[in-house]
Amino acid sequence: MKASIVGEYTAMANELEGKVAIITGASQGLGAETARLFAREGARVLLADVLDTPGERVADEIGEHALYVHLDVTREEDWLAAIARAEHEFGRLDILVNNAAILGLGLLEDTSLEDYDQVIRVNQVGPFLGMKCAIPAMRRAGGGSIVNISSVAGLHGYETGVCYTSSKFAVRGMTKVAALELGQYDIRVNAVLPGAMQTGMAADDDITELPFPLGRISKPLEVANLILWLGSQKSSYCTGADFLIDGGALAGLIG
Ligand code: NAD
Repeated sequence: MKASIVGEYTAMANELEGKVAIITGASQGLGAETARLFAREGARVLLADVLDTPGERVADEIGEHALYVHLDVTREEDWLAAIARAEHEFGRLDILVNNAAILGLGLLEDTSLEDYDQVIRVNQVGPFLGMKCAIPAMRRAGGGSIVNISSVAGLHGYETGVCYTSSKFAVRGMTKVAALELGQYDIRVNAVLPGAMQTGMAADDDITELPFPLGRISKPLEVANLILWLGSQKSSYCTGADFLIDGGALAGLIG
């Protein structure tokens, strides 16, 4: 049985009215979808990426509540400039979505140290720098919400995923440490663990019947809805937690 696709956006609810967010990896895929959703919910959004032309296009499409900035998540100076820009243009920083990542697949025995370092720098050092650099601005704002995008690959290994899996396990670990240290400032930190999504990273629209409960890969908007909930005050008692959103894939196989 194929489950129906839910999670479509219906009406504006202004869940994020008055909030300012930075979303990395926002030029395409889940990051772009999250930026559109956040803006529809009343947030002002800084879209950050290294792919400038598509990022500027998404920001233009969103309109005056969005701004694109070039931010390579591996560079601390880029982080500091982007956070200063958010405060200068929009007055504050309330939400950080650490979404940018690369895949870098390869068998362990074929993976060079350079390959490994590159994935770890983007997927693991990136969120570390983002959280660290965002703390002063979030404290000035009186609190905040950090959403770190991990993956089902942060819960189990898979063949050819030595770099990616290592980085996604690390994201879950640093999320918990940050939650322990930042709760006192009313800064909540959570991890989202998506299963396969229809994006550039796993664009396989042909996969429609899979042997797990919902039997299909997700639309990015379905995951963006969870990020919205974690960014908003609706999740005010959640911190340090993993939020799995995988269509039941890790519940087991059917058939
Ligand atoms: P995507 O490849 O479509 O988009 C990733 C974005 O990150 C791109 O715009 C890219 O330019 C940007 N990026 C790469 N390196 C960067 C850097 N150094 N600095 C700034 N930006 C950089 O990927 P997606 O599918 O939208 O994935 C979004 C998140 O979801 C990632 O964290 C990914 O690991 C996670 N995820 C994806 C899937 C999936 O099936 N697509 C499954 C589980 C988790």
